[in-house]
Amino acid sequence: MIKTMRIAIIHIGQETNDFNPVPTTLRDYESFGIVEGTAILDTYRGVGEIGGFVDEVRNSGRPVEFVPIVRGWAVAGGRITQEAYRFFEQKIRQGLQAAGPIDGLSLQLHGACAAEGIDDVEGAQLETCRAVLGPNVPIVLGLDHHGNITRKMVALASAIVGHRTQPHDPYDTGRMGAQVMLRILFEGATPVTAWRKLPLLSHQEQFLTAQGPMKIWFDRARALEADRRVLQASNYPMQPWLDVAEGGWSTVVCTDGDRALAERLADELADLAWSMRADFQKKDAVPIDEAVRRGDQAARGLIVLSDTGDTVFGGSSGDSNLILESILRLKIQSPVLMPLIEPPTVAALVAAGEGATVTLGVGGHSAPKFFRPLTVTGRVGRIHRGMVPLRNYYQSEIDMGTTVVFQVGPVTMLVSEYRGVAGNLPDVYEFMGIDPKQYKMAVLKTASNFQYFKALTSEVIRVDTTGPGQSDVFTLPWSRIPRPVYPLDPIDDWRRVGT
Ligand SMILES: [Zn+2]
Repeated sequence: MIKTMRIAIIHIGQETNDFNPVPTTLRDYESFGIVEGTAILDTYRGVGEIGGFVDEVRNSGRPVEFVPIVRGWAVAGGRITQEAYRFFEQKIRQGLQAAGPIDGLSLQLHGACAAEGIDDVEGAQLETCRAVLGPNVPIVLGLDHHGNITRKMVALASAIVGHRTQPHDPYDTGRMGAQVMLRILFEGATPVTAWRKLPLLSHQEQFLTAQGPMKIWFDRARALEADRRVLQASNYPMQPWLDVAEGGWSTVVCTDGDRALAERLADELADLAWSMRADFQKKDAVPIDEAVRRGDQAARGLIVLSDTGDTVFGGSSGDSNLILESILRLKIQSPVLMPLIEPPTVAALVAAGEGATVTLGVGGHSAPKFFRPLTVTGRVGRIHRGMVPLRNYYQSEIDMGTTVVFQVGPVTMLVSEYRGVAGNLPDVYEFMGIDPKQYKMAVLKTASNFQYFKALTSEVIRVDTTGPGQSDVFTLPWSRIPRPVYPLDPIDDWRRVGT
């Protein structure tokens, strides 16, 4: 009889933006819910990385007992606090200690998380796992491909799998991690990992995997995986706002016991990315006034204005008012939807009450290097306290804190206390009684995740806004990333710099 394998599951994620000075706290994780124990299997049934992992294992028919430990997720933002780091460190340690003997661990992290004083949170979390489990229990590490691969991760994980697409498909990553785990536990696969670090970074305007150089690079990785000896080949174009000691793009190839093959393929993927290094730097974003005028004059809506500098999904705070300023100054008449995440503004609008006309400074409180408050007059609309239900997302509801509709000229603002999913899902507007279809333009606080608005969208315009998520990587205040790094510095041959 085949032995039943006990597989522990841990999922903890946050993507850090080092140029956002506002730290990410436990409160940010609580917005998405922190779930422990067997409740994890019910909460994430069929969705996200956990759902994909569990479904794939179950569909395999292999005898497996799941040992779910903890699931925590926060939207991208500044470095996580020491308190948040220690909270999850303790959950991992105590959870694994209490789990009893386990045969494998599915460790689902982000890969680009930094804490106050810790550049490589995932590496440190792997150390915690190894301290409890010892060196021999297989750990399959699942990452967002915008993560930063570090020496610790490669040394401590048995195998690493990364998202295969942008926009991401965490369910797929979960399935892939399960496939690798099943081959290790039930087929005797012995994973061997080779990796290359490239002295390369880029803004995210070429990050979609369905087009341009990223498609070429990712398609090549998929082609390599057709060889059954290759357990996974993955590319890691590190998100461009992580200023850490080992920062840079990577490739990782994991084979079943074939070191030479892994090394050769990791080299090939690294060379391919390097050959396209200039293509990755191509910018599509247009100046703010031009973007707003184009949206206003478009034949039909909905025009998505991507606020690149203030991308909440890229770790900004969501309180930029640069596009708002342009719309009001240019006296645009078309109706515009726009989120604003700013607790003091929420408090002021709630104090004034529904129906009140208020003049106040909005936006620009979080990152004074980039923004200043803008004085506007508007009318307070609906006020909501509590959870906001979501469809078509990894979870069924989100805590945005108190949310207030605030009408300023042609702009319908959804002002919220917490970042949550910002205004990147039509669901949050519809819940507040706003029909996005009635609008000509919608400002999205993301530079890549346009999929939720896709059915309503006629055009996406990238707006070249400044901010912690800005596309201009040259003027960001880098201090920790290893130099030289392309394109900040001229480099001809990555091998002279990379590992
Ligand atoms: Zn990502």
